[in-house]
Amino acid sequence: MSTVGFIGLGNMGGPMAANLVKAGFTVKGYDVVDQAQRKAGDAGVEIVTSPAEAADGADFLVTMLPKGQHVRDVLLGEQSPLSKLASGAIMIDCSSIDVPTSRDLNARGIELGIQVLDAPVSGGVSGATAGTLTFMVGGEESTVQKAQPVLDAMGSRVVVTGGPGAGQVAKACNQMVFGSSLAALAEAFTIAQRLGLEPQKLFDVLRTSSGDCWALHNFTPLPGLVENSAADNDYAPKFAAALLAKDLGLALTAANSAGVHLAVGKTALAMFDDMAKESGHLDASAVIKSIPTS
Ligand code: NAD
Repeated sequence: MSTVGFIGLGNMGGPMAANLVKAGFTVKGYDVVDQAQRKAGDAGVEIVTSPAEAADGADFLVTMLPKGQHVRDVLLGEQSPLSKLASGAIMIDCSSIDVPTSRDLNARGIELGIQVLDAPVSGGVSGATAGTLTFMVGGEESTVQKAQPVLDAMGSRVVVTGGPGAGQVAKACNQMVFGSSLAALAEAFTIAQRLGLEPQKLFDVLRTSSGDCWALHNFTPLPGLVENSAADNDYAPKFAAALLAKDLGLALTAANSAGVHLAVGKTALAMFDDMAKESGHLDASAVIKSIPTS
């Protein structure tokens, strides 16, 4: 079985690396946080002490880092681990990041003879743990085929979205739709409460009407409506508001670069940005607490 270097063993990367181990890959993992390393080590990941060591001789290098700046720092600096990879190796960046950084990474790969895929994911921590993530993949079809066993070990669906950066474009659009629908749900439940409509009644109507959406079932903003919702658990994060604010910022950047003027997406970004200032650590569904009323 091939060797996979894995950088970024956090909420998502940790279980993804663990699933690669379960599938029989040798996984050499690195994170700057000790606790993340320990947890991955317990799952069978061989812990190394630098990104270069994770990449050394590996057939694949997977990264799951928070933001574009982390990807730039780790992969595009002078000490880039890309130059340590085995010849013909494939770099798969699963982080949700900006399109220009993703394309720069691809260009650096071409310089070094490394094939690069941008492969951001959907499915959250539960999908990462269950190995049921959806990958939105930008890059060459032939590279995706070679990377398929690695992607299959971590997810259940691969959508090839186009050339370099296309995965990040798809992810940014998806997050804009998710964030906007979650913001609209928070407003709808607030209106209902203020006008004396039981949350359960609104929920029952929405779930069988044209207002139904994924956010209603997975990020229900009020407690007592859906089993195991973050709202039922004091808004402990399933997906933190700060990460959603970051993703909406990426959507705005993508829109600006394409000359598209956002109204809905920009408003959703402002709502989650405001919320993130004080409670970015809470689940994104807690945005309902910051709907202004008079
Ligand atoms: P996280 O903060 O839990 O994990 C990121 C990890 O990267 C951390 O363990 C951190 O220590 C590590 N890291 C940071 N800088 C590093 C460096 N220089 N070298 C090595 N490790 C470094 O975040 P997460 O929830 O795992 O999210 C990772 C990415 O996946 C983000 O881009 C996020 O937007 C995206 N994502 C998250 C979810 C989710 O539900 N959490 C869902 C889909 C996509």
